[in-house]
Amino acid sequence: MSGEEQRFINEAFAEEWVVPLGPNVDGFEEDLKKFLIDGDPASEGKEIAALSAGTAAIHLALVLLGVGRDDEVMCQSFTFAASANPVVYQGATPVFVDSEPGSWNMDPVLLDEAIADRVAKTGRKPKAIIGVHLYGMPARIDEICAVGEKWGIPVVEDAAEALGSTYKGRECGTFGRYGVLSFNGNKMITTSGGGALICPDAESKKRAIFFATQAREPFPYYQHEHIGFNYRLSNISAGIGRGQMTVLADHLAHHRRLAALYEERFRDVEGITYHSNPTPDCDSNYWLSTIEIDPEITGCTPEDIRLHLAALNVETRPLWKPMHLQPVFADAPAYVNGVSEHLFGRGLCIPSGPWVTEEDAEMVVREIVYRISSQSASLT
Ligand SMILES: *Cc1c(COP(=O)(O)O)cnc(C)c1O
Repeated sequence: MSGEEQRFINEAFAEEWVVPLGPNVDGFEEDLKKFLIDGDPASEGKEIAALSAGTAAIHLALVLLGVGRDDEVMCQSFTFAASANPVVYQGATPVFVDSEPGSWNMDPVLLDEAIADRVAKTGRKPKAIIGVHLYGMPARIDEICAVGEKWGIPVVEDAAEALGSTYKGRECGTFGRYGVLSFNGNKMITTSGGGALICPDAESKKRAIFFATQAREPFPYYQHEHIGFNYRLSNISAGIGRGQMTVLADHLAHHRRLAALYEERFRDVEGITYHSNPTPDCDSNYWLSTIEIDPEITGCTPEDIRLHLAALNVETRPLWKPMHLQPVFADAPAYVNGVSEHLFGRGLCIPSGPWVTEEDAEMVVREIVYRISSQSASLT
């Protein structure tokens, strides 16, 4: 927290704006627009709608794109379930696409092949493409959008983890027809729970808010011609968001400082690869720092290291389990190349939050190196 959050909340209480609209909602949308859109000619005209969750933003994007029953939606497999679940809310089927090894995100070449195969098999084009910037690492989003353009399929850009990441100098979330942000408690900034939809123009923002506020038609009485949702952000939560925007730059700098430290320290550790920007086009926000562990070189599995750190009260986690391996999506078509499955078996998220100090990070590195070297000592 910056300390400013409480001031915006107090203002909302003083003026009795304790509803899902009001000055903080407008102000937060303006702050986001200033950060993401203003000054970038490529994003001119885009507008941002504050919502109750990132999941709600993905769902509304699909609603606005007309995704419905029996449609197919191409979706990155290596992601959090929230990227894919809204496809099912719409009665549509997710078709999962594996990652490329550089960014760990959707492989644009595999995406193109997968779409060609869907068209050949079903005789219909998928309705949308959901690409993700996982862990804040920018996907090859321009190539993904080019594949979308080639087939005439709009891209929904899931930037829930990527606020402040840039690709070729442009903010993540502003490439796709729609962009998605999350302000859940664990994201780069928080509203305690919230999200936003980056819309191509003012008209589509109006449409997003229409569906986010129960699709009420402009009549004096309650008239409904569409199924709506209750997805707008509370004016109290938006007050937290306005306060958080004052420390976004500090948070980004902190995450990138930790990343630089981890990258430097792991550079000479054989069998550990720190997941850093694969090309100069990528400038990750390093929302989560992640490593890949080679069990043959280190003699340790990611689980060995996780348990060692857990015993020291340090939390680490396996990488996201790919969607094509999830029981709930067992029946969904998937186009795989082994990359995400390989990463799931070898990766670990290491401490990266705003309260992780450089001393903490040094300790994490030291303990991982210690665990590996005690393993090789016991082997010899
Ligand atoms: C967090 C997250 C979401 C969902 O955001 P919520 O605000 O938690 O609903 C969607 N996609 C990805 C990749 C996420 O990490």
